[in-house]
Amino acid sequence: MEKQNDQSRMDRIVSLAKRRGFIFQSSEIYGGLNGFWDYGPLGVALKRNLKDCWWRDMVAGHDELATLSGAPSPYEMAGLDCTIIMHPQVWKCSGHFDLFHDWMIDCRESKRRYRYDHLNGRWAAHRGKKVFVTTDQSGDEAPLSIAAKAQKFFGLRAKQVDEIEWTGDFGSLAAAVAAGTLTLADALGPDAAAPGTLTEPREFNLMFETRIGALAGNDDDRAFLRPETAQGIFVNFKNVVDTSRVRVPFGIGQIGKSFRNEITPRNFTFRSREFEQMEIEFFCKPTDSGEWYRYWRDRRWRWYLDLGLTEGKLQLREHDKDELSHYSVGTADIEYAFPFLAAGEFGELEGIAHRGDFDLRSHMEGKLVRKDGELVVETGDDGKPRHRGSGKDLSYFDDISRERYVPHVIEPSAGADRAVLAFLCDAYHEDEVPDEDGKPRSRTVMKLHPRLAPVKAAILPLVKKDGMPEVAIDLYRALKPHMACQYDEKGSVGRRYARQDEAGTPWCLTIDGQTLTDKTVTLRDRDTLVQTRVAIDEVVSMLRDRLA
Ligand code: ATP
Repeated sequence: MEKQNDQSRMDRIVSLAKRRGFIFQSSEIYGGLNGFWDYGPLGVALKRNLKDCWWRDMVAGHDELATLSGAPSPYEMAGLDCTIIMHPQVWKCSGHFDLFHDWMIDCRESKRRYRYDHLNGRWAAHRGKKVFVTTDQSGDEAPLSIAAKAQKFFGLRAKQVDEIEWTGDFGSLAAAVAAGTLTLADALGPDAAAPGTLTEPREFNLMFETRIGALAGNDDDRAFLRPETAQGIFVNFKNVVDTSRVRVPFGIGQIGKSFRNEITPRNFTFRSREFEQMEIEFFCKPTDSGEWYRYWRDRRWRWYLDLGLTEGKLQLREHDKDELSHYSVGTADIEYAFPFLAAGEFGELEGIAHRGDFDLRSHMEGKLVRKDGELVVETGDDGKPRHRGSGKDLSYFDDISRERYVPHVIEPSAGADRAVLAFLCDAYHEDEVPDEDGKPRSRTVMKLHPRLAPVKAAILPLVKKDGMPEVAIDLYRALKPHMACQYDEKGSVGRRYARQDEAGTPWCLTIDGQTLTDKTVTLRDRDTLVQTRVAIDEVVSMLRDRLA
């Protein structure tokens, strides 16, 4: 098995992503923009296939008459597409306006800004001088980075590094400050030459602000780019119930852009400032919500496996009680062992949260807080609601059981960009294949699931003569209406295979001399390299069956 933390492997994945047109830095010709990424011709196809799989598997193709494995009962699914800018009150009632922030810390010397919870360090001492050396690096890089910084700080040569005395464990700066084992004056910032340059941590709201209208200027014009797609679903709950035939239990799915002004975007597309989410809000009867939570957690886990992510690199992690948001009854994360993380570390792909009735009640009554175990409307000094809700009745009336209640919500919330990144990392393989002369040749191959692969089949005439291109073009035209395929006649067939392997194309169809006599083509499998002869008339139906 490959080593997990392998920065050089990650570098090769990033370089392939750029070289083959999967992912580019946004505005690259102007030096790029930190935290923003563009998808190139192969990348846009991969991401679109991923989103289409999600939409088909979760929403459009859902069988509402069947009781799916693990589900307490049949259920319905509907879709929505809401705006990125919504009424500012949405974010006040949801809690994002007051609470959606990270703690940031500035360095007066380097003028750099860090996420407080991303700074880690350790005490180092040399000849009576003692300092808490910090780093913002993660994974295996972190201890190396503080060792190099301590050496520089104490002015030591490489052979003197053993003279540094390290005490305590390597750990969080914020936790050490909270525990009172150090003050920020003792800390050497990640890019500072002297201790004591880090400012007190400050809250930083992650929502991007904008202004609406030409007369922008006063506070009433202030609006926000949505930091999640979920709120659009909650505020449309009543519209969907009133206008479609759905009955509880049912889910609403949405795919769309979200924006978070992350303090330290990092790890390629993993933490971006503009990204896409694929979210479901599933509304159910409060008494059934535990069962539905378990159903969605397991269903979403299986989805990643069915699309080919390596099970050993995936982890389903139930949050501890103290990790849960104040309204959440249970949350699980589906996480992937990305190559940029240290061994044993995982990064979140999706969170599945049991949110109770927090969201619908917030949009009815106003922003809620937990008091003595109960969710109550938060009030200001004047005793009035701090953020007033819509006042609309978002309860649900079950006309069969004649009950009225506020549905509970299960929220599977996935990131499309993080999923694309996980599938890219998982698909990336380096191996050896025999070339045309039978000699071993190293190759890079993206073993993407055929449903995700940007190009499903390549049609290659062995040579550019003897009528082979004409037969190949006919096959290309027969296949194209059914799936993404490419015609390629440039270069040796070995090079053409190599190009398709890097793009993740599962099947190559080669038209050769034999094709002209017996109307068969060679079908080469990307992963097994097995070549079989298939009747040219059967290619379309055969590949369609494989993709179904
Ligand atoms: P993290 O703790 O990594 O910041 P989160 O817990 O804040 O993530 P959620 O609010 O649960 O994330 O968002 C749901 C999903 O949206 C995440 O599982 C992730 O796939 C995606 N996501 C969130 N923030 C980002 C981001 N900055 N860049 C890319 N995807 C993101």
